[in-house]
Amino acid sequence: MSRLPGVEVVVIGAGVTGAASAYELSRAGVRTAIVEAGEVGSVASGASAGGVRQQGRDPRELPIAIRAIQRWPELQAELGADLHYLQDGHVNLVEFEEDLPAVEARVQRERDAGLAIEMVYGDDLRKLVPGVAPHVIAGSYCRTDGHAMPPWVAKAYVRAAQRHGATLYPFTRVTDVTVASGRVTGVKTSSGEISCDWVINAVGAWGAGLARMVGVELPIETVALQMLLTEQMPPKLKQVLGCVSKRVSLKQIPTGSYLIGGGWPGTVHQERRFGRVRFASVAGSAAHSSAIYPLLRQARLLRAWTGLEAVAVDGVPVLGPVPEPAGFLVACGFSGHGFALAPQVGVIMREFVTTGEPSVPVDALGVQRFHSPNAVAAE
Ligand SMILES: Cc1cc2nc3c(=O)[nH]c(=O)nc-3n(C[C@H](O)[C@H](O)[C@H](O)COP(=O)(O)OP(=O)(O)OC[C@H]3O[C@@H](n4cnc5c(N)ncnc54)[C@H](O)[C@@H]3O)c2cc1C
Repeated sequence: MSRLPGVEVVVIGAGVTGAASAYELSRAGVRTAIVEAGEVGSVASGASAGGVRQQGRDPRELPIAIRAIQRWPELQAELGADLHYLQDGHVNLVEFEEDLPAVEARVQRERDAGLAIEMVYGDDLRKLVPGVAPHVIAGSYCRTDGHAMPPWVAKAYVRAAQRHGATLYPFTRVTDVTVASGRVTGVKTSSGEISCDWVINAVGAWGAGLARMVGVELPIETVALQMLLTEQMPPKLKQVLGCVSKRVSLKQIPTGSYLIGGGWPGTVHQERRFGRVRFASVAGSAAHSSAIYPLLRQARLLRAWTGLEAVAVDGVPVLGPVPEPAGFLVACGFSGHGFALAPQVGVIMREFVTTGEPSVPVDALGVQRFHSPNAVAAE
């Protein structure tokens, strides 16, 4: 097998997670290579809804989300790219009285954790979000949430990493990770071997398979998540909308089209690297979103697509080193949250490599949660 230039860190996968990690490492002066089986940002990170949200996060990942949002506003200038990042807030709508106490309690918990979030009721909600359905009674509103344009972000990160000296190997698959004396020594790829001290597993839906190369089991499953895009409509909706009792995430992107998601499933074809759209999910998604935002009934659908996403058994990412071999870091299992978190996950990966100590505690998201005596069990 031919030898490619050795580096300190090989980042495997150039979705937004790997791209952000490579950027943070290379700008800190760490010699970095990015190995990507396909095109940059072509899997979950290109298909994503692009929501950049802190509210509603699991308490284990909320500190990462808060830090990530502090990074998002400066990224466009820093990466030298238009990411269409808009910080117009996210409102999680409440349709039914019986759901209110739980939402109000969650908002209080998030306020206690340092998030600027408030409840908005009745007429105040309709003033904030004109067009919301009349039966909706309230919403939790975080004004620092927002959204960005997914296909552009991983590419912008990779280009910036390359400017800092990182090497990109596109259309190159990692086929094995080499280990000696309990430590990572390199990777074998479809284009040759690369020696390195560290490997970052940022391959999304293929994360469990890659971890298995070093004998580590990760309870991560692949799902295909579905999105809808409408024709262009006059500008009206500023915030991203979710809903407690519906499967919906809704935003109007700068072109005027409405982008509709919410976790509706497609059919996974993992070996062929894509998911197939399910008609039942198109119908369900259209029904749920137009129930809370009736204007959508006047908009024709232009496109539906899916993206393959890695979902951990307990619904939060897996971040950090494996017990063995040394030098193998995991950043996958993002469970539908990885786009928003990526800027801070990149920082965390850089900190693991350069100081061994992330500035945001991530112990609760570590691999060991699946292997300790009180481990999270696979369902
Ligand atoms: C439809 C949809 C909507 C979503 N909406 C949101 C949202 O609104 N907000 C949010 O925060 N998150 C959202 N997510 C989740 C978010 O997009 C993902 O968590 C995030 O993009 C994951 O990025 P990643 O880089 O970890 O994985 P990916 O983008 O999947 O990248 C992994 C890369 O690894 C490569 N790879 C795989 N195997 C190998 C190998 N052996 N060698 C080399 N390369 C390999 C793949 O080709 C791929 O490019 C959504 C996801 C989907 C699918």
